[in-house]
Amino acid sequence: MERAGRTEGAGMPDLKSLTLEELTDAITALGEKPFRAKQLYQWMHEKLADGFDEMTNLPKELRERLGEAYDYTHLELADRKISAIDGTEKYLFRLGDGNVIESVLMRYHHGNSVCISSQVGCRMGCRFCASTIGGLTRNLRSSEMLDQIYQIQKISGERVSNVVVMGTGEPLDNYENLLRFLGLLTDAHGLHISQRNITVSTCGIVEKIRALAEEELQITLALSLHASNQEKRKRLMPVAYKYELADVLDACRYYFERTGRRITFEYSLVGGVNDTDQDARELSALLSGLNCHVNLIPVNPIEERDYVQPKLAIVQDFKNKLEKNRINVTIRREMGRDIAGACGQLRKGFIEQERKEQL
Ligand code: SAH
Repeated sequence: MERAGRTEGAGMPDLKSLTLEELTDAITALGEKPFRAKQLYQWMHEKLADGFDEMTNLPKELRERLGEAYDYTHLELADRKISAIDGTEKYLFRLGDGNVIESVLMRYHHGNSVCISSQVGCRMGCRFCASTIGGLTRNLRSSEMLDQIYQIQKISGERVSNVVVMGTGEPLDNYENLLRFLGLLTDAHGLHISQRNITVSTCGIVEKIRALAEEELQITLALSLHASNQEKRKRLMPVAYKYELADVLDACRYYFERTGRRITFEYSLVGGVNDTDQDARELSALLSGLNCHVNLIPVNPIEERDYVQPKLAIVQDFKNKLEKNRINVTIRREMGRDIAGACGQLRKGFIEQERKEQL
């Protein structure tokens, strides 16, 4: 297991990724009273402090010692775009090592939802996805996942009630940091977001789905399915070369058994690829009897690939066919269409621009 709060390449341990218990140990090891750990934790996870300077009720000497021994994660806003259509906001944040990541704030009537990244880049290689084109740079620390939400809450001035781990990266490929992040995010002394208001989306890493099931959390698991048979799935998602579809679905069933949480299946409809009648029939058969919900997402075309969205009538027809087979299904409403299209595109555009300026 990765050591608490450490990430490859990083020098000092990461203060903001520590649990209150770990923080108490760290503080008492410095010869301080345990209540200092509580104060510090509160500054980090409740008052959302950007640095030690703000922690005015902590002795200056302690703040200095902490600053020498630990990294303090604080994401810097690099860009922010607000949709004129639906108020969706896209944020670009710069990490301590100069990398940039993308997060999104979506406003729904049930509350504000933030979509966060779990890695810098991604190594899963899904054919239609912009986030994976440059490969994986590194995992995000738990604190870097958290701070996306903290900064958005601070900058927007609005409370975040829902979190979806559906941005750049494969969360189950950064499993230990993800679990630690979930613990901190739901902690009563932090933002205290309910587990039921959190969704983790995966391309289907079987052993990690099973491990997550055994944590028996009340979070929603979203499985990126995108095809109803193994051969077609391989064409869209290289991860399918590693895991058989039947095993992925077994792991999903297991997740439901252990947690009682209904699985969400994401299915990006790609024109002429996975949107035929045959696909709808096969998908219905595949999911029949499974306690689940299907989210149809007309694919967001990206420059680098020639995948296209099916016509609206075809999307509607596909939905009707699933419904006839008594599958719960919704068409995902597209948010922030006017602010840098598909997931990962804002970040990619920003990096390309930055490179040009450096030449
Ligand atoms: N790695 C995780 C989470 C990040 S991707 C996963 O695979 O689930 C979040 C969702 O967006 C996934 O369902 C992914 O397949 C989908 N997605 C990525 N690029 C897309 C695009 N261009 N159009 C539609 N959906 C896309």
